[in-house]
Amino acid sequence: MSRLINSHTFDPQRINADLHSHTVASDGTLTAVELVQRAANNGVAHLAITDHDDTSSLAQARVEAAKHGVGFVNGVEISVTFCDKTVHIVGLGIDPDAPELRDGLARIRAGRDTRALAMGTALEAHGIGGAFEGALHYAGNPKLVSRTHFARHLVATGVCDTTQDVFQRYLVEGKPGYVPHDWASLSSALHWIHSAGGVAVIAHPGRYRFNTTQRWALLSEFKDLGGQAIEVVTGSHTVAQYSEYAKLAVEFGFAASRGSDFHSPTESRVDIGTLPELPSICEPVWARFRHLLSMQS
Ligand code: AMP
Ligand code: MN
Ligand code: MN
Ligand code: MN
Repeated sequence: MSRLINSHTFDPQRINADLHSHTVASDGTLTAVELVQRAANNGVAHLAITDHDDTSSLAQARVEAAKHGVGFVNGVEISVTFCDKTVHIVGLGIDPDAPELRDGLARIRAGRDTRALAMGTALEAHGIGGAFEGALHYAGNPKLVSRTHFARHLVATGVCDTTQDVFQRYLVEGKPGYVPHDWASLSSALHWIHSAGGVAVIAHPGRYRFNTTQRWALLSEFKDLGGQAIEVVTGSHTVAQYSEYAKLAVEFGFAASRGSDFHSPTESRVDIGTLPELPSICEPVWARFRHLLSMQS
């Protein structure tokens, strides 16, 4: 794959850091151990696991990462509502036991339970019965049912051919199985991350359907709240968006992150550790917590 190298170097730009990935604790299909092994095989030097609203994979992943000489960074991907849309904020280098973060994530997960039941009811009204129970079957963590688990169930039962197709037909805004939900506020998410000693990063900023004013509002409010970085090279961005968000990062004084957002060997377009390196104008976010990396690797 890339020219990225898998050992420590004086040039942080060229370190193979993958700071966004999922396990069965949220909507990934690999266990923490399997994910770390895959990352190690792919030459990842610094790995963050960033499950949605959950940190239960981190302890096991850290032990496995140490066996492979992979630097491990504790992460989480927090669901936030901003301008009536869902935005994801990644927290890196967090202490998962910090009380405000732990309690805040527990509240979001409780909200997920209610939403998942409502999604089941909405799909039922559309003639698709048993979807909640089906999704629950696919959720490795029964406390964290996501739209991805509904999508897997609807593919397995032949309603659609691919998970992508399920999202387009049933699970995105305006479609029958979509249930609007109030996640955390941006300020709460940043407060929890900071109270846990972490660095806040806007996940896949190119994915949100904001107009220019709303996008500007997100970036500036995030900055005012102490947000430090945005994802520039992510599995969700096009090559053109790498340049677009690299320039925005420089303009706002944000560091840049790189993360595949890997969920599954069969579903994810980008494998863990295989994205290109950050554009040279970017300051890698991992340079901002080098002390954590050296402690951890
Ligand atoms: P949730 O947090 O339950 O709303 O689920 C969001 C997750 O669904 C994201 O993290 C992605 O993994 C997945 N997802 C969202 N949109 C799509 C899409 N269009 N195609 C496939 N997966 C998607
Ligand atoms: Mn996901
Ligand atoms: Mn996300
Ligand atoms: Mn993600």
